[in-house]
Amino acid sequence: MATAFDLIIIGAGPGGYEAAVEAAREGKQVLVIERSHFGGTCLNEGCIPTKCLCHSAEVLDEVRQSAALGVQTADVQFSLQNAMARKDGVVEKLRAGIEALMKTPGITFVQGEAKFKVGDAHTVIIGDEEYTAPAVMIATGSVTKFLPIPGAHSQHVVTSREMLELTEVPRRLAVIGGGVIGLEFASIYRSFGSEVTVVEYCKEILPQFDRDLAKRLRTSLKKRGIAFEVGAAVTELRDEADGSATVLYSQKDKVKEVQADLVLMAVGRAANVDSLNLAEAGIDFTPRGIKVDENYETNVPGVFAVGDVNGLLQLAHAATFQSYKVLDYLRATANIPEGHSSAEALPQRGSGEGAVPAAVFTTPECAMVGLTEEQCEAQGLEYRALKSFYRANGRALSMEAEDGLVKILVGADDTILGAHILGAHAADMIHELTLAIHAGIKLPQLARMVHAHPSLSEIILAAARG
Ligand SMILES: Cc1cc2nc3c(=O)[nH]c(=O)nc-3n(C[C@H](O)[C@H](O)[C@H](O)COP(=O)(O)OP(=O)(O)OC[C@H]3O[C@@H](n4cnc5c(N)ncnc54)[C@H](O)[C@@H]3O)c2cc1C
Repeated sequence: MATAFDLIIIGAGPGGYEAAVEAAREGKQVLVIERSHFGGTCLNEGCIPTKCLCHSAEVLDEVRQSAALGVQTADVQFSLQNAMARKDGVVEKLRAGIEALMKTPGITFVQGEAKFKVGDAHTVIIGDEEYTAPAVMIATGSVTKFLPIPGAHSQHVVTSREMLELTEVPRRLAVIGGGVIGLEFASIYRSFGSEVTVVEYCKEILPQFDRDLAKRLRTSLKKRGIAFEVGAAVTELRDEADGSATVLYSQKDKVKEVQADLVLMAVGRAANVDSLNLAEAGIDFTPRGIKVDENYETNVPGVFAVGDVNGLLQLAHAATFQSYKVLDYLRATANIPEGHSSAEALPQRGSGEGAVPAAVFTTPECAMVGLTEEQCEAQGLEYRALKSFYRANGRALSMEAEDGLVKILVGADDTILGAHILGAHAADMIHELTLAIHAGIKLPQLARMVHAHPSLSEIILAAARG
């Protein structure tokens, strides 16, 4: 006999645990199932540990350059072991916080691997136990993809997970993939002292970002000593007798190679669906992820998939906000009067609800929200690009942070279509523009908002004022 709940959530990452707490606080009986650690990829091997290392890298760079600021330091030492230990401490602290949240009244937590019962997508099995609920949320995240090439699993190849556990800084690091994860590790380990080469298949790094910003970021990273091979298809990875590795790639019809002591495979992440028994339970999925509609509902009514597992947006905050939207939908559909559709019952949403910011924590940082110039062009939108540069901002100069710009894309009716920031604190600054898009604030209003002086946010003001 299956134990009954109001809501079953599979996965305690950002797509799972926040929604569990919200639903339980509303009086729902919620079952959370997690096979590994609280916090998912994000907390244990993603966002948080990488940002700890990013901070170590940033401080190290600052200390090395501090003489220009009048701060003399003798013989700067870096300990990877200490940086890793601090990172582990931060992760443990945050994990304990989530563990405490899982004790919220109404939440039952079960440690184990869930799979669906054959022919019943509302019942999950863990070991010998069965659990059932009218609503099930799948939030099982993603796993690293490997290129289907010879040597992809050879001795020198590691994933982002192992990069967070290294005990030595590799002398030469080859990064396959110039996406967010690859670039963050390239930036971190460059600061730690590695010679880094990034090999990217597309013509430009960060294919999802505004091309202009991505190119400028590549230029900045090159100045820091990171080498890039773009438009380069990696064809083979080889372990060499001398203990090194060779990355073979083709570029403009020529076969080339780069030597490394460690190779990071960072070519994207695939939906984590293998253990779930989806096909047997009748839940549709593709290699990209579980298929969902605009409410993140699968083809089986009452069964939802949020976060990386649906393949829509691989960002922690996107996972969480998708799960909130599922709760909105469940609330609304629970109260639908007879003869009305669920769509009518859903809360009204602002036009800017889709404004999801994304950030890359390289040095310098890069962040975006809304449309890129390429997307504006592809959609045939009339737009103008307003730019302002860090080098003209007093606060940026005082911080020795002259490298960067803010670019705002504005439509014919002054609607803010997208915003792109390269430079110090880009990941924090992007939220002013996210709010503008979210709340439908148009350019003239933004241009009249008082900004404190001297602040980096004045770069946004300067761009808005044209
Ligand atoms: C190196 C790296 C850096 C990143 N940095 C950032 C960043 O700075 N900002 C950002 O927004 N995003 C970042 N991401 C992406 C972010 O981690 C993911 O988008 C986010 O974790 C997705 O959340 P989720 O809840 O969908 O899945 P996850 O966080 O992956 O959680 C899924 C959970 O489900 C569990 N699970 C899986 N299958 C089962 C099963 N059958 N039964 C029980 N439990 C199961 C897993 O153990 C896991 O704990 C990064 C990712 C990586 C790899």
